[in-house]
Amino acid sequence: MYNREYLVSLLKKDLALKKRSKMALIGIDLSMIQLLAANYGFMYSQNLIKKAAEALSRHCTDNRLLFQPRENRFVFYLFDYKDKNELVDFCDVIIETLGSLFVTDRISVGIGIVEVDQNQNEEDVESLMTRILIASERYVSLFGKDFEICFYDEELEALVNREREIMEALGTIAADDYAGNDLFLQYQPIINLKTGSIFGFEALARLKTEKLGPVPPLEFIPIAEKTKLIHPVGEKVIIKAFRFLNKLNEHGYDEIKVTINISVIQLLQPDFTSRMYELMNDMQINPENVCIEITESVFTSDFDSINSILEELREAGLQIAIDDFGTGYSSLARENELKVDYMKIDKYFVDKLLVANLNKAITSDIISISHKLGQRTIAEGVEHHIQLQYLKEHGCDKIQGYLISRPLDEEDAIGFLQKHKQL
Ligand code: C2E
Ligand code: MG
Ligand code: MG
Repeated sequence: MYNREYLVSLLKKDLALKKRSKMALIGIDLSMIQLLAANYGFMYSQNLIKKAAEALSRHCTDNRLLFQPRENRFVFYLFDYKDKNELVDFCDVIIETLGSLFVTDRISVGIGIVEVDQNQNEEDVESLMTRILIASERYVSLFGKDFEICFYDEELEALVNREREIMEALGTIAADDYAGNDLFLQYQPIINLKTGSIFGFEALARLKTEKLGPVPPLEFIPIAEKTKLIHPVGEKVIIKAFRFLNKLNEHGYDEIKVTINISVIQLLQPDFTSRMYELMNDMQINPENVCIEITESVFTSDFDSINSILEELREAGLQIAIDDFGTGYSSLARENELKVDYMKIDKYFVDKLLVANLNKAITSDIISISHKLGQRTIAEGVEHHIQLQYLKEHGCDKIQGYLISRPLDEEDAIGFLQKHKQL
């Protein structure tokens, strides 16, 4: 099989001579074959790659050459083709070919398409090689079981650049000696519905840089997870939340809790609990004032080890909440085994309380189930009074949402406590 060097030299030559009317690369990412190797052994995956190479090479023509730049990647170089449609049609042929090979071992396969711009020259070849890599691996995922096609276009370019900038910003923040304010926390009050008092605040991470402006956590947290920067960045979040707890203490609020969102990746880090105790000890934090929120996706991960970590944290005095309950992966059977204190009812079920027929809302049933399992409930995203009314009537323990307050900066959060005390 032709290798990467040959592809690069051929592209350089063709771009220099400008002899092709149209040029494109179609990349095929088979890296998830490694999952099969883990199950069936190295020889099995090697054999499959070999079969893929044979099957793909049957589609070579004078205008369509096949290369294998890396072990699990193939690239077709096509030239003098008609139009985009021809490229897409050919991708379908690739899918059909590989699909019949992978019928029993369905894995995620990425196919990327890069069209060469007529103005590009020899110097652009390395960037073309990067683009084909980016496009072909774009939709490859650990859990996917399909073929996905991705065109490298301006939109993808912008997306990739933004991701890189966010990654760089997170990398800067992650440094041990970083002292800037690009990463900060806001605090959203959680109210006890039974007593009307303030239970605590949820700490919500914010990223804001000069270059990027504000970046929502739903955008930067997944990037932090993907790059493993979530470990140092998550630790900075914990430290900031602890500092806030100390500040609350200085103002005489020693029973207010702070809930911190922790990603499953953080939780599964072998030294997570010991590092947590170390920080609490160093910063003189009362564990009873700390609540950890983990999303429901724990159900898809290593359930037993997660449950034992949660149990250990609870024994140390922390509280645990399941975030976004009801949105994704819940299994009531597992719910029963999970050792947690709070169930955070997702905004989705709170929004349902705005419809005409409240008898059909199952929000009250979620509250009952949680109570039967010995957990308390926190409803998220409460924006309207009728939602509050329903939740109160049906015994929901706590609520959080714009109706009470938006997430606040530290000073405003303390101001909120003071105002609430006067009321
Ligand atoms: P979440 O933990 O479920 O947080 C609640 C989200 O709902 C927050 O969005 C909050 O600002 C928003 N929200 C609260 N009340 C209302 C309301 O009444 N109406 C509406 N429309 N929205 C409301 P935010 O701050 O954008 O955070 C999004 C998600 O990012 C969080 O969802 C959480 O999963 C994640 N996240 C935030 N900070 C961290 C962190 O430090 N670590 C980790 N791992 N994840 C974090
Ligand atoms: Mg949360
Ligand atoms: Mg939530």
